[in-house]
Amino acid sequence: MLTTDQDLERYLDEHRDARLESYKALLRIPSISALPEHAADCRATAEWIAADLRASGVEHVEVAETGGHPVVYGDWLHADGAPTVLVYCHYDVQPVDPLELWESPPFEPVVVGDRILARGSGDDKGQLHLHLRATEALLATRGKLPVNLKFVFEGEEESGSENLDRWLEAERDRLTADFAVISDTGFFEGNVPAITVSLRGMMYAQVDVTGTAVDLHSGGYGGVVQNPANALAQIIASLKGPDGRIRIPGFYDDVVPLSDADRAAFAELPFDEPAYLANLGLPELVGEVGFSTLERRGARPTLDVNGIWGGFQGEGTKTIIPAHAHAKVSCRLVANQDSEKTFEQFRSYVEEIAPPGVVTTVRNLHGGEPSLTPIDHPATQAAARALTATFGREPVYIREGGSIPVCASFERILGLPVVLLGFVPPNQHAHAPNEWMDLNNYELGIRAVVRMWDEVAKLDAAGLARPG
Ligand SMILES: [Zn+2]
Repeated sequence: MLTTDQDLERYLDEHRDARLESYKALLRIPSISALPEHAADCRATAEWIAADLRASGVEHVEVAETGGHPVVYGDWLHADGAPTVLVYCHYDVQPVDPLELWESPPFEPVVVGDRILARGSGDDKGQLHLHLRATEALLATRGKLPVNLKFVFEGEEESGSENLDRWLEAERDRLTADFAVISDTGFFEGNVPAITVSLRGMMYAQVDVTGTAVDLHSGGYGGVVQNPANALAQIIASLKGPDGRIRIPGFYDDVVPLSDADRAAFAELPFDEPAYLANLGLPELVGEVGFSTLERRGARPTLDVNGIWGGFQGEGTKTIIPAHAHAKVSCRLVANQDSEKTFEQFRSYVEEIAPPGVVTTVRNLHGGEPSLTPIDHPATQAAARALTATFGREPVYIREGGSIPVCASFERILGLPVVLLGFVPPNQHAHAPNEWMDLNNYELGIRAVVRMWDEVAKLDAAGLARPG
């Protein structure tokens, strides 16, 4: 049975204003990991979190060097005999451009109704902050935690987690646990509580097409040389068919096909497709033939151009054949695709279709692996009970379209099952202007985390080991 902890509830009530101020203070630090000029801000955020953990009574708190932005580590390990959980969130955020589309400055959090608006409010500082506050409330009111916790708060998630795997490998002994909880996902359409059971991986490449050393006069050379921008457009146009299928040979070979049960689960999810479309403001949805919108988003791989540039970009006209043209292209991958293998397939296909007369090169910028977590794992079910008790309805199990490479890293490097317990509402503009977090989700999220630890405390640690 889940019992309401009166002392803890009272503590949370009394600290509501202070909690919001603390949340805002964390959001004010512009911890954009991708931009070198914000490196000091990332470090300041790490220090802020470390100080907060220490103040709550978490031990062995450390701003750990990784070679990039630091990881914040801390633990509390006095729940003898109870399971040990590794808690992961990330404190870095995405860049904020285009700035002019923000209704208020991205690092000056404001509360409008039930929403707090700021970069990182949901992804992922808000979720990190609710873990801080759950820990604080438990230690302040009970003097102990129901389970052993090890916190790993990363600062490079939004820029590829370049140093995390190496750090995890080096710290493997310190990071032993029964399972990991990652709070970097969200609720389902309609703000329905959800547990994400799979995440997509990522292959991210850059295509560079180079012609002459400098731009050429299009009157003097047009018609006799290859135009790098035209060549690039030709390459990109060849990557996908009109049926939405990706044309890279072998691309789909390792994709786990959807079972009838998988497709039935997708079909049962409460999803208002017209509302989803209306919210996007688009004339229609498109995608791979033969799959529903939710299947396309959660269980099928993708290929998208993320940026394309080259030649004259100014006002008016300039009659040139550009010297070079470039595109960033990424694929969202699903189990059991491999990011390295996909990159090699992509590179060899682009080299095969590249038009003559220019030099085309393909670079691997970043990769992350997809993951799948069992619904019937006892930790997943403990999370489900905590969500049900807190939010008043059972969670749905979803396959998330996004990528959290650390999920695969925890599975692969640390051997930990991963529970994706996230609280952001859908359509909260993650990575976009006007990112917001629902303050009810945030507040209830704190209670759900507390309940989760109380539920996990009842589990037999021996039964939590990752099978196989
Ligand atoms: Zn995130």
